[in-house]
Amino acid sequence: KKLPLDSSEEPGQRQVKGACFSLVKPQPLTKPRFVAVSHEALALLGLSGEEVMNDPLGPEYLSGSKVMPGSEPAAHCYCGHQFGQFAGQLGDGAACYLGEVKVPPGQDPELLRENPSGRWEIQVKGAGLTPFSRTADGRKVLRSSIREFLCSEVMFFLGVPTTRAGSVVTSDSKVVRDVYYSGNPRHERCSVVVRIAPTFLRFGSFEIFKRADEHTGRQGPSYGRDEIRGQMLDYVIEMFYPEIQQNHPDRVERNVAFFKEVMRRTARLVALWQCVGFCHGVLNTDNMSILGLTLDYGPYGFMDRFDPDFICNASDNSGRYSYQAQPAICRWNLVKLAEALAPELPPDRAEAVMDEYLDLYNGFYLENMRKKLGLLKKDEPEDEILITELLQTMHNTGADFTNTFRSLSQISCPTEGQSEEEDELVKKATDLLLEQCASSEELKAANKPTMDPRELAMLLSMAQSNPALFQMISDRTTIARQLERLSKLKDLMETSQEELKTQQAEEWSHWITRYRKRLAREMEGQSDARAAQEERVTVMDSANPRVVLRNYIAQNAIEAAENGDFSEVQRVLKVLEKPFSSQPGLELPAWVGGGPATERGVRD
Ligand code: AMP
Ligand code: MG
Ligand code: MG
Repeated sequence: KKLPLDSSEEPGQRQVKGACFSLVKPQPLTKPRFVAVSHEALALLGLSGEEVMNDPLGPEYLSGSKVMPGSEPAAHCYCGHQFGQFAGQLGDGAACYLGEVKVPPGQDPELLRENPSGRWEIQVKGAGLTPFSRTADGRKVLRSSIREFLCSEVMFFLGVPTTRAGSVVTSDSKVVRDVYYSGNPRHERCSVVVRIAPTFLRFGSFEIFKRADEHTGRQGPSYGRDEIRGQMLDYVIEMFYPEIQQNHPDRVERNVAFFKEVMRRTARLVALWQCVGFCHGVLNTDNMSILGLTLDYGPYGFMDRFDPDFICNASDNSGRYSYQAQPAICRWNLVKLAEALAPELPPDRAEAVMDEYLDLYNGFYLENMRKKLGLLKKDEPEDEILITELLQTMHNTGADFTNTFRSLSQISCPTEGQSEEEDELVKKATDLLLEQCASSEELKAANKPTMDPRELAMLLSMAQSNPALFQMISDRTTIARQLERLSKLKDLMETSQEELKTQQAEEWSHWITRYRKRLAREMEGQSDARAAQEERVTVMDSANPRVVLRNYIAQNAIEAAENGDFSEVQRVLKVLEKPFSSQPGLELPAWVGGGPATERGVRD
């Protein structure tokens, strides 16, 4: 079933009437070659990674340099809210749809559980100009392609719903980029990622049917809007939510059930992000998948030391897309989707669906966090406090998010025939967790205000001399954050490294004592304490990854690849394909000083 298609293949800036896809010709690359392939992702298409890599035409086809037989490449036109503002028509100037592949027989049913369409859509990202490229070139460079490739796959292996990546190809074609807006632009190699998903349609795909934006007056393309909106909605529901289509003969009821399911999947997705310490970085409505998948890997980041205010996108000055903001931002984006679906989706019905968002999100979050803490036998209302206090302790002590969770399974449950004293066991566990904490120097670095000192000084004096004016400044959350950092920094200046360690030990032993009491209740009535303990460790170690794609790991692989050594990308992928277990002889590069690169944030 085809969506409306515009048939002129002219690149360059234009608006396309009465269609949401335009035929395009991907622009060939000079000397395309593979950097890496994901065997598991290519297998979805029935392709062997080995064969593809050994085929001289492999990089040609998987970069769009040659068009595969039967493929009808097209670019999808969509709108979106960027950083809270409706931005009109903005995508897709960089990704090109190649077509769909029928799911080959014998595919793992688990992989198809949320893809009842029977096919995979394939895209090349970075294949050159489309009618929607605006002033840009439709190209992607090696570093951004490697980041998208690795993270798409890692998220899958972490159990987080995501679009997949089959390969990354680089070339001798060059474009100019200035990563840090330093005024020193450099030539970088054009690279292309093959992306795979049931569909890449997103919230923003529906926003092209919006009328003029109420705030900005900006117009979406919106031609023939009611008809195409209906067609796209039918297409999405029939293809990807067939059960909803079958169970709801009434159109409005069907649409409500659909919106509710998108809301449920989005709540689940963001809960999973929070549980692995993942920050998306650009949660604009055009980066929100209509299937609840993680979509568009740009300046994302996995947290190292836990900080609820973690911002991974260097262009996100206000912290709109910080770690702790993600659940509320996804809710906001769902409201924008509901607005774009009106009148197909009556506003009062959408509002009723949204009333359930927070409870659903909390449910998914707690369910996952209980696994991470090994609280399996019973739910206690106080668990929420235990989790909050864990995060608070991590934040206060600058503990590493991934490693702290991973080490929790080494804290044993109190048992009846326990040979050691409780105090001894708490001390042992505390020592273990202290290894994950930041030193005084690291904490000082982490709490340096990010605002320009002169600007900050001016704001501080304004806060004292003219509180009313200070109140009116729109960016107050950012300022509050700066002040909090400053006061923490002041405390740190007055605390020696020894004193800090003592404080950190106190905080952790306090939390561990509580945790062990809770674990003791977990064990009540268990006839086989050892078996229960073993089960707990198994569940925890499959919920708390040993490794995630830390920024420096991606950066390492990127730098090697930029110097012509592609083996590190493939090696990182291999390690991260099994993020919950250690693979002998396969370790990621160890962290060597300099302060985590994530502190600076990433530019796409
Ligand atoms: P993003 O902020 O990464 O979600 O990008 C938003 C939109 O900007 C994309 O949908 C593209 O249409 C456009 N875009 C991003 N990078 C490029 C590029 N290199 N060339 C043309 N358009 C681009
Ligand atoms: Mg995008
Ligand atoms: Mg992007």
